[in-house]
Amino acid sequence: ASLSQLVSDHLRVVPDFPEPGVLFRDITPLLADGVAFAELVEGLADHYRGRVDAVAGLESRGFILAAPLAVRLGTGMVTVRKGGKLPGPVIGVDYELEYGTARMELRPDSVVNGSRVLVIDDVLATGGTAAASIALIEQAGARVEAVCMLLELQDLGGRSVLEGRHIDSVLTV
Ligand code: IMP
Repeated sequence: ASLSQLVSDHLRVVPDFPEPGVLFRDITPLLADGVAFAELVEGLADHYRGRVDAVAGLESRGFILAAPLAVRLGTGMVTVRKGGKLPGPVIGVDYELEYGTARMELRPDSVVNGSRVLVIDDVLATGGTAAASIALIEQAGARVEAVCMLLELQDLGGRSVLEGRHIDSVLTV
């Protein structure tokens, strides 16, 4: 099956989570299926092999994807974390959510100067999380080669927030 079919076949759509009115896209069925998960990681590894020096996962579900992909590619993995989770020294970027603000942090010494980094996460929604994470990786001296999202929620406009970036969405809805 194609990777997009794999994602759409193993996606759970949950109404009113985590709040009323929100339609949450849940990738845990894909992770729970060993054959599908392996196929996904292999497919992504085939796509990025030789093109990146590190894989950066965005907390939390990005970690689940970044770790096996990095191992398969033979690269290191970088953790871009929510505010307050990483021991210092860290750099951070605050960004706006629909209600309130959020913060992503990175240890600058966890990326190599001039290296090519692949950013990965489960869902691209408004693009705020990815934009903040990209800014941190670049501030730390690395290059963001591509952004990989299992699922892009087109109506939320993340792609335009990340304008000029190479975004590979496995499935767009
Ligand atoms: P954004 O910053 O609005 O693009 O939101 C992206 C972040 O929120 C990512 O880290 C996603 O994991 C998470 N997220 C947003 N919407 C969903 C969803 O429907 N399912 C799972 N995660 C989501």
